[in-house]
Amino acid sequence: MTRSLGGAELAASIRNDASVAADALSEIGIRPTLAVVLATDDESTAWYVRSIASAAKRTGILCDIVDLGPSATTEQIHTTLVELGHDPDVHGIILQTPLPEGTDLDALREAINPAKDIDGANPVSLGRLVARLPAFAPATAQAVIALLDHHGIDLHGKTAAVVGRSTVVGSPAAHLLVQRNATVTVCHRHTADLVAATRDAEILVVAVGIPGLIRAEHVAEGAVVIDVGTTATDDGQLLGDVDFAAVDGRAGALTPVPGGVGPVTTALLLNHTVDAAATQYAQTRSDALLTGSRSGG
Ligand code: NAD
Repeated sequence: MTRSLGGAELAASIRNDASVAADALSEIGIRPTLAVVLATDDESTAWYVRSIASAAKRTGILCDIVDLGPSATTEQIHTTLVELGHDPDVHGIILQTPLPEGTDLDALREAINPAKDIDGANPVSLGRLVARLPAFAPATAQAVIALLDHHGIDLHGKTAAVVGRSTVVGSPAAHLLVQRNATVTVCHRHTADLVAATRDAEILVVAVGIPGLIRAEHVAEGAVVIDVGTTATDDGQLLGDVDFAAVDGRAGALTPVPGGVGPVTTALLLNHTVDAAATQYAQTRSDALLTGSRSGG
């Protein structure tokens, strides 16, 4: 029988921790604030951003949605990100994709202040993650590991395959798995034989965006399968990358879509925002103390 690795319970517990920390910060006059920058009229993105905003509100976090519209230019988005990076009342920044065609996503990611980069989008954050230095990991990649931990799945010495190598999900998830002592194969659109690359993995993480890509032949008997994929259909369904019916009964454990990685990702974004607010507050205090001691005050 395939065990379902749901994310709701873990997400609730992360949100609860974030809410307690947000209340403690509010008591000293700090209201953790998240800015979500978007530049699209895509309805599923709007829905996702609204769901972050409502979860933030319930957690005691202010969420400022900065909607620049679908014709925003790289320059306009860049200016907004730099301003938010300098704004002492903003603690976390998300740059929501997709962006208008022709915008330079790489340049924009670099414009996110690393101290506020709560979804690990700036290459500085990713570099620090790979170098095993403190940084915010991309929340979805971290959610994969958090979900495995929550369900008591040991990663040490296991074989893992990650399908997808994006800088937001696949690559950081692969690095985090290696850091937990798994032996990892990374697959992507040019992998010649996906079945051969995945069929022996004890842990299979799929982050592609092609519904039904992963069928029974990709999955080892008893494997743990984490389905990150989310594709919205015209009739309002959300589909994962795994052919659930084909894999159910063969996999040992499988995340549902929706209700698996997604809610944990959102909860971690809120948790990172509160962490960022606390760190920025501590930094301001220590800067003030240093300035005071230098001026003899
Ligand atoms: P992306 O388009 O940036 O990357 C997709 C990756 O899949 C690429 O590395 C590509 O090489 C690989 N790929 C494409 N076709 C393939 C094939 N036939 N075989 C093997 N690999 C193939 O996407 P992304 O931003 O990494 O997102 C991946 C999926 O995860 C999407 O469905 C996205 O909506 C979803 N997602 C979910 C969450 C969440 O919280 N649940 C968060 C972020 C992304």
